[in-house]
Order: sequence, then C-alpha cells, then structure tokens
Amino acid sequence: TFITFEGPDGAGKTTIINLIAKELEHALLTREPGGIEIAEQIRKVILDKENTAMDPRTEALLYAAARRQHLIEKVKPALQDGKVVLCDRFVDSSLAYQGYARGLGMDEVYAINQFAIEDLSPELTIYFDIEPELGMKRINRNKGREVNRLDLENLDFHHKVREGYLLLLKRFPARMVRIDASGTIDEVYQKTLNIIKARLAE
Ligand code: C5P
Ligand code: MG
Repeated sequence: TFITFEGPDGAGKTTIINLIAKELEHALLTREPGGIEIAEQIRKVILDKENTAMDPRTEALLYAAARRQHLIEKVKPALQDGKVVLCDRFVDSSLAYQGYARGLGMDEVYAINQFAIEDLSPELTIYFDIEPELGMKRINRNKGREVNRLDLENLDFHHKVREGYLLLLKRFPARMVRIDASGTIDEVYQKTLNIIKARLAE
C-alpha cells in the first residue's frame, strides 16, 4: 500500500510520519526529494541556497528525476514485497509548488511527472492543512531545521502553495484526505493513524 503525506512547509509532516512509522508494522518510511543516494544528491542541488539562478522548469525536472530514481530503487521493490510505503511528499508537492505556486501549470508539471512515474499512484494521500502564517511560525521555532532555498520565499508563495493543495483536494477526493494540522502533535497523530488504519483494514 502506497501512502503519501503532503502539505505546506511547517505543517508537521515529518514529525507525524515518524510516529506513524513506529506504530505500523511492515512500514517503510521514506522521503522526497531523497530517500536514496542519487536522489539525495539531486535534493542538495535543488535546495542549495547558493543556487539562486535555478530556473523553475529546471527545478521541476530535477524533482521529477529524483522521484523516478527513488521510485525504481526503493518504492517499487518495497511495494512488491507487500510493505506499506509511507512517503513524505510525492507528485502532489510538484503540482502545488512548481505547478501552482511557481506558475508552471499543474497539467504541464503533471506531464513530466507522468513520464517519471508511469502508472504508479498513491492509494492514499494525507494532506496536512495549515495556515502559512502558523506554518512559518513553527519553522522559525524549529532551530534544528536546516535553512534551504525555499526558506527565502515570502508568505505569498506559501499561500499559493496551500491554494494549490486545496485545488488538488477537490480534484482527487477519493485519494486525498485533509487533516487540520493546526492542532497538537498528539491530535494530528491520532487522526492520521485512524485514517490509515481504516484504509489498511479495507
Ligand atoms: O519536505 P521537506 O520540508 O523536506 O522539503 C524541503 C523543501 O523543499 C521545503 O522547503 C519544500 O517547500 C521544498 N519543496 C519544493 N517543491 C517540491 C517539494 C519540496 O519547493 N516539489
Ligand atoms: Mg518535513
């Protein structure tokens, strides 16, 4: 079962997904961009704050390239082994960030991603919804977090990312479930766990 986790920066995805992975047996926790050596190298190039000349289409292609390699090396083999794969971000991130917020167009960005993923789609996507103001506050409070190129974006950009996600939620109502991520870690964790357990029991 392929489950992805989405949401704007500061929604708490990484924290919650770590707790979920501890709770579920046979779960493989991974992340995008990254998760394997080649994709982690691509991640560094994308997120390096020195790389201010990065063109938006180049950025979108690099995400798709990292995604492809991660899928082939890690996600597909685990799914074939019958594992539950929990992935921190997937194609929806590209649609919301590059497609919508950067203005490349969701359909255009979907096209390059379709080339990368072929016919694989998550069975369930948990979308952690958060007001960008609160998300930014959480990020600034988290001192251990590494600064990346995206941290240079303004609040407007993060509002657009959220709008992009809300459009996706309307477009894929069967696959995407919205969770209000403004609550405490325990509240968000319990809601997330219940949704996943119910889906796995189907
Ligand atoms: O998920 P994580 O927080 O590790 O992502 C690292 C950075 O990459 C974040 O700042 C996120 O906003 C950004 N990102 C992006 N476009 C994507 C995926 C992630 O701009 N498609
Ligand atoms: Mg994270």
